[in-house]
Amino acid sequence: MYSVQCTVYSVQISRRTEAKPRRAGLARRGGATKRASFRHQLEARLGEVRDDMRIDVLGVGFDNISTEQAAQFAFDILRSDEKIYVVTPNPEIVWMARRDKTLRDILNNAGLVLPDGIGIALGARMLGTPLRGGRVPGIDFAVSLLEKMAVSGRSLFLLGAKPGTAELAGQKLKDKYPGLVIVGAADGYFTDDSAVVSEINGAQPDVLFACLGSPKQELWMAGNIDRLNVKLCAGLGGSLDVFAGNAKRAPVFMQKLGFEWLYRLFCEPRRIKRMIKLPLFVMVLVWKRMFGVNTWEN
Ligand code: UDP
Repeated sequence: MYSVQCTVYSVQISRRTEAKPRRAGLARRGGATKRASFRHQLEARLGEVRDDMRIDVLGVGFDNISTEQAAQFAFDILRSDEKIYVVTPNPEIVWMARRDKTLRDILNNAGLVLPDGIGIALGARMLGTPLRGGRVPGIDFAVSLLEKMAVSGRSLFLLGAKPGTAELAGQKLKDKYPGLVIVGAADGYFTDDSAVVSEINGAQPDVLFACLGSPKQELWMAGNIDRLNVKLCAGLGGSLDVFAGNAKRAPVFMQKLGFEWLYRLFCEPRRIKRMIKLPLFVMVLVWKRMFGVNTWEN
């Protein structure tokens, strides 16, 4: 369906997930052992709570990790010779990946796979393998990482959203995190990938936030990570709209209760078309729980 060349940037060690790591990709690239030992070190450090495995939800393996741990892991990547992309799938994307092996591989091959929606956390619980950190919203991960980057003067490029939004988000982030270095911004409605990649590489950021919506951002990151000179690239959906002040997050009590999706639906009723799949997602989970049958295509 998609012609994306996907390279593995993370090594998955003894995971509970049924999604298989693409070790052939690693073998082709030098430094696999080094990467493996780096991931081992990080996982060992986070091990008390990370449990060294991914939790499978309908074919996608999620890192069993809290928001703070995910941000620390990402920050440590900046000081290593690793390079990863980060995905933040919600139930809609998992549902899409069920019938799309390319997308599923792209998700599973990410260096960090964070459970963005309450539906993923509930799904993991229904399958008898609860995620210790519950859900890890992409935007919370981003904020936590930005705080760390600001302290050490790391640089960021913002890609995505409508023209003007990324620049505005950059200004607001600079005001909020004075130590943060914003080296560039570009909107997400481009047609020439190569020109965008050149612009990003020319700006030499440590981190790229790719906020192009799903699954566009996941496909774009996997297809371009090889030629991007960044340490970390994170797909963060509508986060730039929030950073720019053009969209609001749900009140904190709704976030805590896991009703952020309801608030977004209220603000953007057109999302109902996408959410209509959620009951199917739950039904498939129930089916898997009762009969243990995998319902995704291989
Ligand atoms: N977007 C973009 N390029 C596109 C399509 C979408 O930059 O070709 C942006 C859009 O303007 C919005 C974000 O991607 O800022 C999508 O936000 P949403 O919350 O819908 O993300 P999702 O839930 O799909 O991850």
